[in-house]
Amino acid sequence: MSEQSTELQVQNPATEEVIATVPAATPADVAAAVVRATRAQTAWAALAPGERARLLRRFAATVDEHVEELARLEVREAGHTLGNARWEAGNVRDLLDYAAGGVERLTGRQIPVPGGVNVTFLEPLGVVGVIAPWNFPMPIAAWGTAPALAAGNAVILKPAETTPLTALRLAELALHAGLPEGLFQVLPGHGPVAGNALVEHPGVAKIVFTGSTAVGKQVWAKGAAHLKRVTLELGGKSPNIVFADADLETAAAAAPMSFLDNAGQDCCARTRILVQRSVHDRFLELLAPAIESVRVGDPADENVQMGPLISRTQLDRVRSYVTDDLDGIRGKAPEGPGHWYPPTVLTGVDPRARVAVEEVFGPVAVVLPFDDEADAVRLANATDYGLSGSIWTRDAGRALRVSQSVRAGNLSVNSHSSVRYWTPFGGFKQSGVGRELGPDALAAFTETKNVFISTEA
Ligand code: NAD
Repeated sequence: MSEQSTELQVQNPATEEVIATVPAATPADVAAAVVRATRAQTAWAALAPGERARLLRRFAATVDEHVEELARLEVREAGHTLGNARWEAGNVRDLLDYAAGGVERLTGRQIPVPGGVNVTFLEPLGVVGVIAPWNFPMPIAAWGTAPALAAGNAVILKPAETTPLTALRLAELALHAGLPEGLFQVLPGHGPVAGNALVEHPGVAKIVFTGSTAVGKQVWAKGAAHLKRVTLELGGKSPNIVFADADLETAAAAAPMSFLDNAGQDCCARTRILVQRSVHDRFLELLAPAIESVRVGDPADENVQMGPLISRTQLDRVRSYVTDDLDGIRGKAPEGPGHWYPPTVLTGVDPRARVAVEEVFGPVAVVLPFDDEADAVRLANATDYGLSGSIWTRDAGRALRVSQSVRAGNLSVNSHSSVRYWTPFGGFKQSGVGRELGPDALAAFTETKNVFISTEA
């Protein structure tokens, strides 16, 4: 399929079967969508806050009624395990509910001034473009869309080329729930065509981009021509730091799914396992059976923990990192059709090797030893990325010290959790710009206006 093809073929990554073909949006389609969105946004922003909140809650309830259908669609188009896909559809519902709760709480401030009253208003930006990746098509689309709508904006969502189906279904559900026509539009298309048209369109006030760091930089540079607002959620190469004083059994049991979830196609994947040298060998003894027992297979099977990679391109990319000379632990993966790659942990790797510094975006991690706390922090920070990370230790002081020293936006101690819709999420360094989710999510879709009213005139 060429970059300019007029259609997108959607393939089931577990079978390589083509399950749908959808038209690819052109720049003219984007321009027409901006006209519709601008009209819809004006009316939406003029609605009473309670009414906007009520419609968003209805959208959330409609998604809730369709969680199973959306999840099954995600399994077919993205190869996600059924359990993950159900969580993802539920996450869209929860994001909409949470954002709806913010509509009536989106308050400005009253600031004391002499000679009058000074107030601030948080006004919507207008039309927001959301450009989503294929790795978590539904949640990531909703991270931008739900708060943007709640803050009074219209949204044009461009899903990734390989995963447009759940986004299209969400747009239908929005209309079904009573959201006005044109307020939330989904335009599947090629990144350099439809995505780029959104970035370059002067009528789009903000771009929320989630994807690779390379494209994120282009989006920021092109958007700068209009001083366009951006939120960028980009790549990661996150550390999982295991100190000798940690509960090693628990840390080893938790490590596999911290980088194998979604077949490693997760920007938060803990793909650099940093282990204190004194427990390095013991940790590997515990890790090996945990990796070997991960169940990889048909993502629609409820017992499966890991499905296929999204595409042949992604599979080739992952293979290019794991050369035959590298030692390590390898799990099992199905043979035959489908983009399968086994869980893989590489040992004895040079910390400067490509596989140790670049984002593989597949089920591959490296284990690197460190000597002491300072060495652990140095290694953890020896990356251009700064998205997430985990720290395993029984020493509370160390947990806090290391949390404060690792330059990343989302850390967890004695756990690998990093994403909750009600806590902030985003990257340091080349992992991103801005924050999504959490209590300030709506404010990121507003401009602050300051108004002084004289009491002396
Ligand atoms: P990608 O950058 O190739 O594509 C992401 C989106 O951008 C797609 O919709 C694509 O069509 C579009 N796009 C591509 N070129 C464009 C252009 N020139 N102008 C405008 N839009 C364009 O990334 P990908 O391979 O689909 O996704 C994987 C990447 O996403 C990984 O690097 C991963 O770490 C990152 N990611 C980050 C987060 C986060 O929250 N930080 C979350 C998920 C994924």
